[in-house]
Amino acid sequence: MQFVDEVEIEVTAGNGGHGAVAFRRESHRPLGGPSGGDGGDGGDVIFHAHERLTTLLDLGYRRRIKAEHGENGRGKDQYGKAGADAVVQVPVGTQVYDADTGELLADLDTHEQRVVIARGGKGGRGNMHFATPYDRAPRRAEDGTPGERRTLRLELKLLADVGLVGFPNVGKSTFIATVSRARPKIADYPFTTLVPNLGVASLGDERSFVVADIPGIIEGAAEGAGLGLRFLRHAERNRVLLMLVSIDPDPERDPVSDYRTLRSELLRFSPTLAERPAVVAVSKLDLPEVREALPEIRAGLAELGVPEVHAFSAATREGVDDLLRALEAELGRMPRANLPAPITPFRAEERPHGDAVGFAGDSTDEGAGEVDE
Ligand code: GDP
Ligand code: MG
Repeated sequence: MQFVDEVEIEVTAGNGGHGAVAFRRESHRPLGGPSGGDGGDGGDVIFHAHERLTTLLDLGYRRRIKAEHGENGRGKDQYGKAGADAVVQVPVGTQVYDADTGELLADLDTHEQRVVIARGGKGGRGNMHFATPYDRAPRRAEDGTPGERRTLRLELKLLADVGLVGFPNVGKSTFIATVSRARPKIADYPFTTLVPNLGVASLGDERSFVVADIPGIIEGAAEGAGLGLRFLRHAERNRVLLMLVSIDPDPERDPVSDYRTLRSELLRFSPTLAERPAVVAVSKLDLPEVREALPEIRAGLAELGVPEVHAFSAATREGVDDLLRALEAELGRMPRANLPAPITPFRAEERPHGDAVGFAGDSTDEGAGEVDE
């Protein structure tokens, strides 16, 4: 079972600048040689994998990404400046496909991996390169070549960071809907009748994590009844469990014994899963009977060894942000570095142009005028 985050974007590398046709004019030398400089190279579009990012969400509103064009060459042997690259940060695990051909262009599976996805055009050579003993005044220069342009489909296979565990109707789906900024597409799922709920929860900025419902944990799930086993297997890859309980209309059930049942199912299925960091929360806090029973529920759970019990209402959002922060704190044991925004254009290193001097004061000098053609 895989969760897939998917976006389509268009990337365009910068065009190479054109080479210049120009001639030196010096007062004491009526016919100077060719002095048209080269065009600068266009910037590349580069993808940079970073483990801090967890979804493709941040790219969603940047469907077009462009690198800078190279500048045209100029007279007086001046080269055009190279265009800046566009560097796009993507989560580790991003696969980049050509949307038109379906070809896999890159698989960014390593932190800090950098791949050139669209190459900038080459700057054209200026006429200073074309002088020969037979043609001392060449009027020929090259055009820059266009930068590559591609439509890409980016795919990210997600693992749920937080697995939601709870009896039916405790409010799992509602919780996910309340905290989600986006719903990734669910792919490769073998059952069509029962699809897990999945959402990308956000605490603003770029702090987000994937929350997945794990239905079917009860009713003998640990024995493999129904779909439970499959979901539990998936839950083994969750970093943190969120265990939800609440007051159910069924008088036979109560939050403390529900919690005990959930625990024992987990333990029967997998002791490692039962040891996973867990956050316990009471849902539907807006209901008076829940609010009233809260102290008692907390006391009962404390006896079972649960030191902290959160409470929230998906209906009013009361307590929701606190709960998300608690989840993030648990997830934060695998810290992620701080980096700037997902797309950071920077100026490409300028090529060392040994003889390119005097970018300023173009063709205004006395006695050494320039003619650009
Ligand atoms: P799930 O089976 O765990 O996914 O539970 P659902 O999210 O489908 O919710 C079950 C029922 O509880 C639905 O009728 C919801 O409207 C209701 N519910 C969910 N969250 C809240 C809440 O915060 N307050 C109240 N009053 N009802 C809720
Ligand atoms: Mg549900």
